[in-house]
Amino acid sequence: MTVVAIDGPGGSGKSTVARRVAASLGFVYLDTGAMYRAVGVLAHEAGLDLSDEAAVAAVAATAALRFDDEGRLFAGERDLSAAIRTLAAGEAASRVSALPAVRRLLVERQRALAAGGDVVIEGRDIGTNVCPRAELKVYLTASANVRSRRRYDELTASGHEVAHDEVSRAVEERDRRDTTRAVNPLRKADDAVEIDTSELTLDEVVAAVERLARERLAR
Ligand code: C5P
Repeated sequence: MTVVAIDGPGGSGKSTVARRVAASLGFVYLDTGAMYRAVGVLAHEAGLDLSDEAAVAAVAATAALRFDDEGRLFAGERDLSAAIRTLAAGEAASRVSALPAVRRLLVERQRALAAGGDVVIEGRDIGTNVCPRAELKVYLTASANVRSRRRYDELTASGHEVAHDEVSRAVEERDRRDTTRAVNPLRKADDAVEIDTSELTLDEVVAAVERLARERLAR
């Protein structure tokens, strides 16, 4: 069982890089942000106050979240993979992810999923908290400008109408919340390899992470 942990702020390229590295290594890809997004969307749909820890944790406990073989996220039989990709879902995720009881439930589930085999697992606290003994830890960063641009491109490419300013503000606010929350804030693990992706192409980042992973696997 080998774990490659990839952490970093939104727009650092994590998801795409993690998915591609997983495919090329033949590992399972686990997107932990999708789980926080799902809880955020479900809690919002249920009309809950997203700071009501007990109520949102009850949603997390009963949502029956699972990934199918293509990496689509389901709550029971309902496919949530499109609903979780909006700007609002990202905001809701960031809010519910600050609730300790929600984190406890999802982290437990993520550890169980990671224990199932060889995985590339991606999020904010994977190297520091979910899988502290991962064989390889990578911390991806990029400047705030580059990250807002990428988020904007992603959202518009998937048909969402958003203003660039609005996305920039959301990215800043999310960074602030993710790095300052009391439980498991976004932070580079001491033993993680940091890669600044601002000036790199996606192919270059994928190649760098893959090279690191193959080096570690060969040991
Ligand atoms: O990576 P993504 O944008 O999908 O994550 C959405 C939100 O979920 C993040 O802004 C963060 O607040 C939260 N998250 C987290 N811990 C993780 C993954 C995501 O707190 N491991």
